[in-house]
Amino acid sequence: MHEVSMEEILKKLRDLNAERVLIQTPEGLKGEAQALADFLEENGIEAIISGDINYGACDPADTEARRLGCDALIHLGHSYMTLHLEVPTIFVPAFAKVDVVPALEGNINEIKKLGRRIALVTTAQHIHQLEGAKAFLEGKGFEVLIGKGDSRVSWPGQVLGCNFSAAKTDADGVLFIGAGYFHPIGVAMAVKKPTLAVNPYSGDAFWMEREAERLIRKRWAQIAKAMDAERFGVITSTKKGQLRLAEAKRIVELLKEHGRYAKLMAMNHISYPALEGFDFDAYVVVACPRVPIDDHENWRKPVLTPQEVEILLGLREDYEFDEILGVERKTDEPLGIALHGG
Ligand code: SF4
Repeated sequence: MHEVSMEEILKKLRDLNAERVLIQTPEGLKGEAQALADFLEENGIEAIISGDINYGACDPADTEARRLGCDALIHLGHSYMTLHLEVPTIFVPAFAKVDVVPALEGNINEIKKLGRRIALVTTAQHIHQLEGAKAFLEGKGFEVLIGKGDSRVSWPGQVLGCNFSAAKTDADGVLFIGAGYFHPIGVAMAVKKPTLAVNPYSGDAFWMEREAERLIRKRWAQIAKAMDAERFGVITSTKKGQLRLAEAKRIVELLKEHGRYAKLMAMNHISYPALEGFDFDAYVVVACPRVPIDDHENWRKPVLTPQEVEILLGLREDYEFDEILGVERKTDEPLGIALHGG
């Protein structure tokens, strides 16, 4: 929770007249979840901690909160995502304390290779430093674009593993600030422009095109492996922010129109071991795109995204990353409440 005070959460809960809440946490914030539960109970609010592992804002436990008779859900560790929620949900992102400017300064010559007009993106962890990073880069003569992004993200310039709408500008290249390859490789695959990732912790910088090309080659290999498949399981997820039923049905129909056998499936947590025993030659995941892209080595059958099925059926030529776009909120639904911006 870092910079978000428990007092601020308590105030939001008082505004909602909440008497009982469910607290949901990712792996790394279990201690904070427990401390928050103690704090709320000291202040007269009954708190239940969800023991289920949570990976993203796409999976709020609002249905579980409603079943438990809770007036609100507190979702720790991720930023606000527009979803059709069943109880008011307070999203409490975790902000990193590391200063990003020294890593930018140390890599300024690499950043210059992107061109003069650059798009700047990051994850929720560093979003509070994006304006400072922009000012620093402008001081070095760059024109810096921060894309607004769609309703799936909380802030301009924020990217998720499944949504790079904020990286899509007419810039010459994209500068990503953050740790790891997971997000910037997605940026490079989705935006198809030179992408440099600067890690504020290590101070290193990595060009992502080669990594993206390597991953796309692996995806073409999956498509080739699925070429002779006759029977397809088309899986969507019951996680609220991964449930793409209409798209999954479209893929089932498309496969049937092209003479393949296809069945619609739904899972909560999508992984291959649970699918052992079903009679399918290949699977299509119409949920989190990172399941087929990042986890396919753990699958004993080919596993594709919807766009890859279109390539397989000869309906598309170029490789496209399977992004999940933001949804419009219905006005009579309970609110998602963002702490610290959004
Ligand atoms: S759908 Fe996948 S990539 Fe997107 S937020 Fe959820 S877990 Fe992350």
